[in-house]
Formats: sequence, structure tokens, C-alpha cells
Amino acid sequence: MSDIIPEKRQRVEDSSKVDIMAGGEPHVNGKSATNGGSHKWFGDEPLESNDPEIHALIIKEKIRQKRGLELIASENFTSRAVLETLGSCLQNKYCEGYPGQRYYGGTQYYDELERMCQRRALEAYGLDPEKWGVNVQPYSGSPANFAVYTAVVGPHGRIMGLDLPDGGHLTHGFMTSKKKISATSVFFESMPYKVNPETGLIDYDALAVNARLFHPNMIIAGMSCYSRNLDYARFRQIADEHGAYVLADMAHVSGLVATGVVANPFEYCDIVTSTTHKTLRGPRAGIIFYRKGVRKTLKNGTQVMYEIEKPINEAVFPGLQGGPHMHAIAGVAVALKQAMQPEFKTYCQNVIENARVMCKSLMSRGYKISTGGTDVHLILLDLRPMELDGARGEKVLEAISIVLNKNTCPGDKSALKPSGLRIGTPALTSRNLTASDFEKVADFIDKGLQLTKEVVAASPGPTLKEFKETLATNPAIVAKVNTLKEEVENFAQQFPLPGLEHM
Ligand SMILES: *Cc1c(COP(=O)(O)O)cnc(C)c1O
Repeated sequence: MSDIIPEKRQRVEDSSKVDIMAGGEPHVNGKSATNGGSHKWFGDEPLESNDPEIHALIIKEKIRQKRGLELIASENFTSRAVLETLGSCLQNKYCEGYPGQRYYGGTQYYDELERMCQRRALEAYGLDPEKWGVNVQPYSGSPANFAVYTAVVGPHGRIMGLDLPDGGHLTHGFMTSKKKISATSVFFESMPYKVNPETGLIDYDALAVNARLFHPNMIIAGMSCYSRNLDYARFRQIADEHGAYVLADMAHVSGLVATGVVANPFEYCDIVTSTTHKTLRGPRAGIIFYRKGVRKTLKNGTQVMYEIEKPINEAVFPGLQGGPHMHAIAGVAVALKQAMQPEFKTYCQNVIENARVMCKSLMSRGYKISTGGTDVHLILLDLRPMELDGARGEKVLEAISIVLNKNTCPGDKSALKPSGLRIGTPALTSRNLTASDFEKVADFIDKGLQLTKEVVAASPGPTLKEFKETLATNPAIVAKVNTLKEEVENFAQQFPLPGLEHM
């Protein structure tokens, strides 16, 4: 354990650290900040003594991250350099507005910072600044999407996105038969499209048929749980029948897109949104790319222009947001620079290779994988043939320090009892696990799921409550859980935590 508890002395004495955290000057007005006056200046105390309760929780969480196997497809470990931007002085500044047009004083360094981030964003995706613009201010992926709808389709505009139980995201207009769940289905009119329940593949033909009834203003090509490349050309074709915009929400795959290892949405789409903390491995933030220039040329030669730049920028600020999180924008800039290095391409290739290895390994053990494979960083394990469900599988795996999430499978009757598990490789690939390590991870998952069957068999009744009680209290089960957990944790601890080993 001692190897992952931060060394306090090193933290304070490391001068490179002080440079960043306190501008290289740990004194106030020439006096020592902590003992020069009659009162303690709270600003200079380390977290550990200033707030031991929060500090203790962070240490516990760090230990959890180190000992566990992180397989949540939307998570990753960002770099030390990105973490330094997040803990830097940039956190302190209000910067409402855009480069060259700020509403606050003292912003002289921020224009350069934000412009650098914008330039790197366009460069990382190989975009011509004449044809594409970018807004790097969205706080995260959800606000980025809301800003796009606000700007481009307007109140009660019609959107079509992949249904959440089929692998879409909440912000693609999610609602149920009983309730409009996402605000994107409250303020905009939403009609989902679905995957084929047999193949698990997006049913583009049904989307085309429904679009002819619904006449959408925007079709959203994006996913949170879908293991195949999206057919952006097909989305374009379907949208064009209705003069609709195509929004690609590449949140999950943005790192993979930047390195060219999955299908590229930019060729066919009008707008591309993303988070920056998933496969892109940056800080938690959002980003919006939008087209500029000629949208289409009519038969009589008239050119119709894109007029979405101003509405999108105005929707982000001042429409929906206030001050941009400049420390996060600095982190995005750092992550984008990293994403242009050859090492990052290797990382992304490994992410996909590792997902394929896990997929093969699980299939060879008789597991069913939705769509029969993967083109990306994730796989969807369908537990129905095993007569298990996602909630129970997730619980047992969590008990043995394997973290992933339950997910609906194509054709699931109820979203309340999802029958699958979503498994992603980005985070563990960042910890440098190789293909053979992922074979081992697949083996641990298999053992965890076999144990899940034993817990079901040992439960006094069919409810999830009884299942959880059995998992926590049945002595034979608890013993097996502990043995497996120790094996998993011993394995996981060999791999350093990117960005955190020094902290
Ligand atoms: C994760 C995700 C988002 C939202 O990101 P947050 O940063 O959690 O708001 C949006 N769209 C898709 C497809 C996602 O997977």
C-alpha cells in the first residue's frame, strides 16, 4: 500500500511542483505564508492537513483505481501533464466571451491558450480551417449536444438518434413510453432509431422509412454502446432526403478517429461533437466542430451557405454557459497535442486489438458477443444464453475488483433488467496491459461470471436483494469472492497508474 500513498515531503519540497501550484513563490509579501502572521493563511496548506477527510477519500479512491481492473468503456486515465493543467492557476480565472472579445480583465494569456486549443483541435482531425470551425468551451459532452440542438434545430425541432437501450446516449433525445427522460426530448421532438434485435446492427433501412414520416431536422450518428463502425455515408444519404443536418457525436471514439483507426465522420457530417475524456484521454470536457462555407449548390447554381457557426458559438456562450473552464481547455490542448504523436496511434491500435482479443477469448469460452465482434474499443457481452443478467454479473465482478457496467442488449424487453455487460479496453490499455494480459482479464471475467451462477444457485429466492445478500453473507461464496479478488488485485497492481504514480 505504501507505494501508492503520496509522499508528503516530496510534494512540498519538489520545486517543479511548487512552480506550477504556487507560481514558484510559496511566500506572501516576502513572509512565509503560514507562520508570518497571527492567523493561518488557509490558501497554502496542503489538502492533507487542510481537509483530512477529503484527502483520505482521495487516497482510498486512488488505491481502488490501482488495485482494480477498469473496464468501463467511457473511462480512461489521463496523463500527468493534463492533470497538472487541471490543478493549475488557470482554474482561478473568469474568461466569459471568446478570444479577442472577453468580458473580463486580466485575460491576456487566455486568448492565446484558447486559440492554441482550437488550432490543435482542427489539426488533430486533419481539418481545413476554411471549412471547419471549432468551439472548445462546452463543459462536457452533454452540454455540447444541447448547445448544438439549441443552435441548429431550435425549440421543438426534430431529432433522430440511436435509442438509449440500443446503444445511444441520453442526450440523443431519450424518452420512454411513460416519461421524457432527457431534456433533449423535452425541448426538442425526438424519434429514435433502433438496432436489429437479431443481428444487433443499426437498422438503417428502418431509419430511412421512419425519417420519411418524421422529416427530421437532424440525424445523430453516435453511440455509447455499439461495437461497430457507423456508416456515416448512409446517415448522410438518409438526411439529405429531408435537408436534415447530420451530427456525429464521436464521444466514445474521438481518440480512435483522430488516429484514423475507425471510420471518420468528418467527410459526411455537418457537425461533430465529442467529449475529450474517453478514448481521447484528456480532461473532462466537450468540443463542437462545425462546417463553414458552402453547404450545397442548387440546380440553378445558387450556393447555399452553412450558417451554423454563429448560432453554435452563441448557444454555448452566452446561451447556455457562463465562464469557460480554462484549466480544462488547457488540458484539452495538451491531450490534442499528445493525440498527434505516433505513440498515441499505437495506443489506439492496441485499444482495438485488445478489444478483439477479449472478444475472441470470451467467445472461445462459449460467451455470446452482440454483433459477433468489434471494430472499436468495446464489446457487448450478452448474458441471456447463460441465463444471467447484467446487474448480477456487474455486482459480482465489482466484488472481485473488476469494474464495468450492465447494459441492455438488442431485443431486451425491459431497460430495468439489462441482460448484458459493456466491456471497454481504453483505460487498461493506458495502463499498458498487452494482448496476453487481456487474455488474463477475460479469464478473470469468466471466473467472475461462473461465480455469479453459483451465487444465483445459492440464493434463497429470485430477487436482486436476495442475490446481494447471498453475495455478501454466504460463507462459501464470500470465501470464493475473496480469493478471486486477491488474485485480480495482485494482477492489477503490477501496472502503474498513468499520471498518478508521482502524486
Ligand atoms: C459520454 C457521452 C456523452 C456525454 O458526455 P458527458 O461528458 O458525460 O456529458 C455524449 N454523447 C455520447 C455518445 C457519449 O458517449
